[in-house]
Amino acid sequence: MFIKKLKLFFIIITILSSIFLIYSWYENYQFKNNPLDKKIQKKIQEKKQYLQILTYNKFNIKRKIPIIVSDKMPSNLFGAATLSKNGQIQIFLNKKRFQESVEYMIEDVLPHEYAHALMFVKGNITKQNGGHTLKWQNICKALNGLRCDRFVDHNDIIIGKTSFF
Ligand SMILES: [Zn+2]
Repeated sequence: MFIKKLKLFFIIITILSSIFLIYSWYENYQFKNNPLDKKIQKKIQEKKQYLQILTYNKFNIKRKIPIIVSDKMPSNLFGAATLSKNGQIQIFLNKKRFQESVEYMIEDVLPHEYAHALMFVKGNITKQNGGHTLKWQNICKALNGLRCDRFVDHNDIIIGKTSFF
């Protein structure tokens, strides 16, 4: 009797874990093959507007900087600010990273990259410390960024060509 119950228990566990596996596989598949959730897209738009207002109020800059969610970025890069040869300035956010934390991408990464983009707008294209200079830090803080640390070690400013355009 006890053995039978134990068997049943393991069968149920196996079925439940299979359901869970299929479900997470399905979630992953959906995430990879669809655009970001509408709610997340709306949050990005709201943050973008907020950053535009701050930029105008604090730096008197009216320029609108496009924000592109890309799935072609290397996974170790959360976001990037790019300056193309013809002077186009864009911000890229790594779509893959939204699966872990939407909050982090919007509250930390976006203002961080926005500050890099504003450095470009101001004509400051220094690559010193990966673009994380004191001037950049002040802009990042003025945008109420949460990740304005100067000692980040990745290369998130791209001047010239990129592979994820
Ligand atoms: Zn940076």
